[in-house]
Amino acid sequence: MAEAHAYCSFCGITQVPGTPLISGADGHICEACVVLANQVVGSWGRKRSLARVHERLLTPAEIKQRLDRYVIGQELAKEILSVAVYNHYKRLRDQSAERRVCADSDNVELDKSNVLLLGPSGTGKTLLASTLARILDVPFAVADATTLTQAGYVGDDVESILVRLLDVAEGDVGRAEWGIVYIDEVDKLARSSESPNVVRDVSGEGVQQALLKLVEGTQAGLNKKGQGRDSGAEAVIDTRNILFIAGGAFAGLEDVVARRHAPGPNGIGFSAPVVSAAAKFGVSELLAETRPQDLRRFGLIPEFIGRFPVIAPLEALDEAALVRILTEPRNALVRQYRKLFAYDEKELEFTPEALTAIARKALERGTGARGLRGVLEQVLRRTMFELPSRPDVARCVVDEKAIGGDGEVKYVCPDAVRDNGLRKAAVG
Ligand code: ADP
Repeated sequence: MAEAHAYCSFCGITQVPGTPLISGADGHICEACVVLANQVVGSWGRKRSLARVHERLLTPAEIKQRLDRYVIGQELAKEILSVAVYNHYKRLRDQSAERRVCADSDNVELDKSNVLLLGPSGTGKTLLASTLARILDVPFAVADATTLTQAGYVGDDVESILVRLLDVAEGDVGRAEWGIVYIDEVDKLARSSESPNVVRDVSGEGVQQALLKLVEGTQAGLNKKGQGRDSGAEAVIDTRNILFIAGGAFAGLEDVVARRHAPGPNGIGFSAPVVSAAAKFGVSELLAETRPQDLRRFGLIPEFIGRFPVIAPLEALDEAALVRILTEPRNALVRQYRKLFAYDEKELEFTPEALTAIARKALERGTGARGLRGVLEQVLRRTMFELPSRPDVARCVVDEKAIGGDGEVKYVCPDAVRDNGLRKAAVG
């Protein structure tokens, strides 16, 4: 505690009952100076971010090339996202006074290009958003739209997304303001306007409304209470430069698009031409044709749609894509398990047929690439239990039979050359 007649070493104010001081080794500081110092330090982060944006921007082709290392397939979505991100950071650069491109552009304000990702679950929407953030080295936060509520209701309000982003940015407001936010499951916020019998889902619409300001750009005041560090402190985040990427499965949207292409007699209703349009073009092609009016018919409010001008469709992943996902990305699952085995000084090998069988099994689960880990865990469970106590085993081979349940993972023991080192596969 500060002693009587102490004064703030920064502004000179004397300690009185209403002005407590924090004591240091050689001086004191008042609350007002702490707040000021906090703002100054916060602006350092902003300056650092500005300096980074003045570095050479990655071209869309370079961004896509880097996305390719982590995300398999989804060529169209990767291309659309790369351009959107390139334009987004170009816009940030344009905002900084020193970097006006030319006099003509001074009156032209570039609009923000938030992105809407449409595609089935487990096809890489979150992965795309998080990989982008990693490539650009900006903070990244994920929010689930279904856990958000409109102000005044029980649940997370939309500002909680920013609290998370600020946390990832380690409290650096400047860095958080250049971050990327992914809002998952926005399709669940849609009201079911197509059916006259469905009660309007007001809460979903309320969340869409609540998100508008945040997505467009606002000065959001955050109470970081309960965040541990800086608990109870206030922070103001400007969301104008945060790139918002929203995603959802939008099941049934393809029917809405198909109906637009081939309307029934009255332009509404699920008619035969719709079925044929869906069969003719396939879900992915139809989703690629999505227009704002389709999203409106799906149940998103026009203002919300308007704030996501870039729409990127993702395709359902087929067997071949799942096999590639198992092995090709930097942190592919097969590489991850090999690393786990390497800790115990064991090699792990999958036959090509085994990889295809894993992909086929994951497809049956209907959760996209998300099913792969579950299949692998199931197949390798026994082996991961046994191996740490088997110093004799040097290598494990997973073949198609082990995936199908007709055999077991084979153990190769270098010392047991007599019986080829292969443990006899137990049938059943
Ligand atoms: P969602 O589309 O539901 O957001 P995620 O991006 O969360 O799906 O993907 C779920 C899991 O599947 C993640 O572990 C991710 O690494 C993997 N995955 C999904 N799609 C791809 C893809 N196209 N390329 C590589 N990995 C993928």
